[in-house]
Amino acid sequence: MIGNTPMIEIKYTYKNQIRKIYTKLEFYNITGSIKDRMVQYCIQKNIENGNIKEGDALIEATSGNTGISLAAMGARLQHPVYIFMPDFVSKERIELIKSFGANVTLVSKEEGGYDTCIRLADAFKQEYGGFRLDQFKHPYNITAHYQGTATEIVKQLPLIDGFASGIGTGGTLMGCALKIKENNENAVIAAIEPSTMTLLSVPKVIGDHQIEGIADGFMPALVDTELINKVILIQDIEAIAIAQKLAKELGLGVGISSGANCLGGILLEEAIGGTICTVFPDDNKKYLSTKLLEEQELGEESIVSQIRFLSYEIM
Ligand code: PMP
Repeated sequence: MIGNTPMIEIKYTYKNQIRKIYTKLEFYNITGSIKDRMVQYCIQKNIENGNIKEGDALIEATSGNTGISLAAMGARLQHPVYIFMPDFVSKERIELIKSFGANVTLVSKEEGGYDTCIRLADAFKQEYGGFRLDQFKHPYNITAHYQGTATEIVKQLPLIDGFASGIGTGGTLMGCALKIKENNENAVIAAIEPSTMTLLSVPKVIGDHQIEGIADGFMPALVDTELINKVILIQDIEAIAIAQKLAKELGLGVGISSGANCLGGILLEEAIGGTICTVFPDDNKKYLSTKLLEEQELGEESIVSQIRFLSYEIM
């Protein structure tokens, strides 16, 4: 129920050529996102090594999918769950976490947003004890993707020339980069960033964006920039428009970060050619109240309006 997700080959036209990229459908995991892999691995390992004891509170600062996953895992293993999250994420995320019985503390932008969530989660653990997952720092986050996501990727696609994905905690990108480079040291690892929130390109830009799940405004400690060969900037409107196109032209209902990853993969294919892989971290159901359902006015220079999806095949 977690992992062994399908890999698909997507065929599309861009600049009058038929091309393809590969992606893993991570919404097949039990709570609907790639974060199930990391949460399951971290919880299991920390139970094994004695850091989590029976009935311990599970505590985390998260912008959504990790909270959903942890809440479900806590319910299953009978641990109370405490989630600290920004109030500016989609309503569906907050409601889903509550539906699994977790305790949710919401923090507004004025109260300090994500930074305050982290501070409150730390303070809660100090006062009441329990296990703080600390996904932005926990090394098992990378191992979960190295042993899970990336091991499956290199089995499904033996030679990979490039891998592109956004950075939330960086667990996905780092775990996949390490494994893919073991198989092909020349593989190009591309980090995808919102064009209005980029920490890896010069000059840095720090602003709002709509690609929920990535770019929380700081570079996570897990990210080793030495493993990143390229940075691809994506506009919100293009990420949303391509996610809408995947739904309308292929029947693939995905979230906005999947849109960003898809476009990042297409741009990496345009830049280096060869076999390019990415992941679709979650599906569209958590975004029904967001801009994902609003029509986008694409400008003349839009890349997405030059892309037409043709078909997909399961690998
Ligand atoms: N997309 C979505 C929808 C996510 O929830 C996350 C996790 N925050 C990511 C992408 C990025 O994954 P990672 O934390 O492994 O960098």
